[in-house]
Amino acid sequence: MTASSPRGPLTDGPRDPEHDPRASWALEPDYVGRLTGRVVATPGAQPTHEVRSPLDEAPLAHVPQSTPQDVERALARARRVQEAWSRTSVAERSRMMLRFHDLVLDRQDEITELVCLESGKARKDAFLEVAHVAMTARYYARTSASHLATRRVPGMFPGLTRVDVNRIPKGVVGIISPWNYPFTLALCDGLPALMAGNAVVAKPDSQTTLTALLGAQLLEEAGFPADLWQVVAGQGAEVGTPLIAGIDYLCFTGSTATGKVIAQQCAERLIGCSLELGGKNPMLVLRDAPVERAAEGAVRGAFSNSGQLCISMERMYVADQVYDRFVDRFVARTQALALGASTDWEVDMGTLISARQLEAVTAHVEDAVAKGARVLTGGKARPDLGPYYYEPTVLEGVTPDMACFGTETFGPVVSLYRFHDEADAVARANQGSYGLNASVYTSDGTRGRELARQLKAGTVNVNEPYGAAFGTLAAPMGGMRESGLGRRQGQEGILRYTETQSVGTQRGLPIRPPAGMSEEAYAKMMTVSLRLLNKLGRA
Ligand code: NAD
Repeated sequence: MTASSPRGPLTDGPRDPEHDPRASWALEPDYVGRLTGRVVATPGAQPTHEVRSPLDEAPLAHVPQSTPQDVERALARARRVQEAWSRTSVAERSRMMLRFHDLVLDRQDEITELVCLESGKARKDAFLEVAHVAMTARYYARTSASHLATRRVPGMFPGLTRVDVNRIPKGVVGIISPWNYPFTLALCDGLPALMAGNAVVAKPDSQTTLTALLGAQLLEEAGFPADLWQVVAGQGAEVGTPLIAGIDYLCFTGSTATGKVIAQQCAERLIGCSLELGGKNPMLVLRDAPVERAAEGAVRGAFSNSGQLCISMERMYVADQVYDRFVDRFVARTQALALGASTDWEVDMGTLISARQLEAVTAHVEDAVAKGARVLTGGKARPDLGPYYYEPTVLEGVTPDMACFGTETFGPVVSLYRFHDEADAVARANQGSYGLNASVYTSDGTRGRELARQLKAGTVNVNEPYGAAFGTLAAPMGGMRESGLGRRQGQEGILRYTETQSVGTQRGLPIRPPAGMSEEAYAKMMTVSLRLLNKLGRA
């Protein structure tokens, strides 16, 4: 397809549309300067990183890189501002969060355009990031007061002992995020951290730093204090290691391999972390599945964001009874997708983000084909559309010796498998070491929810690939097994950023024998009391 004209506040139009059939975009230098000026870095003291758009490889910006000293500076500033922030009321924080919510919706064109330029994704996928950030802001603005409220628990001696459980902010939270959902993954985990009274130092992926910087700018525009949310920029370990050395808690989203390295660094410092990692997510299409609906869900499940989505479907187990019909419809719907490297709404699937991603996806498909897998549709790069474009690809006949059988592809490639009985399908879906997301298509919702309990996955969606669970902010989201540690969203998503503090107040008798009572008599009295409390059914 040919690219359309860019528009919006960021761009100065195609550079040479007559000579280049693909679009070419540029960001206004002032706009870029305002964003890159937010990186905590000493101006001119270190090299910059050139960000290029995956749409056409055109340079977008030169982002200053933070040194370890810059990271320390950011941490010291965060610590100072956090002290005052922890004394603000949750109601005041909620007001700012709702202003941020409105600002994100108001500025959605600017955000989606920047996300498209930096990540190469389809505009509809970029809009989902806007929606998810707004939903997260609203959810925590409206619920944090109840999540964080001091809770009274029954005391040791009823009537004499009072115990209050407080939620104290951890302090400075580090957020390390990947490139695939650059707006939502840079922001959403940090919003509850702010609501809980913490400061944030964020380290986004080098390929998508501009989007993360725009997020930081919007937070400040919404009224959050300067320095409460800072962004450090640079390559993974170079910036990540000094960051982890100075924070009180880490939220990491990225690959399982990096997650394991980072977990060790956190363990060394005895700080907590939540890890949102990779997956090889299965979809089960049962014999009674609504086939057309399953085929539609399969397309979204496998090819949203060009498959560069941690909760996307890379394995589909389809019942014998519906296999042929399902494959027919799934392949037809896949072939009907509008492909294009463009910031237009009409595009269904955008490009992969980098040469590295293209190589990884190509290698998985070539390996599978060389070992006997069949390509039902797709199976090749599309340099005519963009430098890193790869077609949505459906494979059949994938076997355990092929790389794409059990390893995450993180691209638009899905393998189809036939099954005869459900127990076998569940066992195969549970193979491997991941456990992030799963999907079940069936006409019997109750059966789907029963099967969910047997699936080793942190989220399971019935008659939907991933949106129902992930899009429900009250529902905890995260991975079992090597897909992660801890949960984002819901109550767990905010309480992870707090220390629990129990405050006991003793009235009347102290917790020792009263004057004149021997230790032996006290022990007897205690025994009688304990038996009585048990008889009364007290916890
Ligand atoms: P990655 O692990 O290579 O990088 C993620 C982030 O970690 C980047 O910001 C990177 O700069 C940083 N990093 C890398 N090495 C580091 C180190 N040693 N110390 C500190 N920081 C370091 O991940 P990726 O390949 O870029 O992203 C894709 C992966 O992320 C996929 O596996 C995908 O499934 C996963 N992911 C998971 C979720 C989830 O919610 N579970 C969401 C999105 C992506």
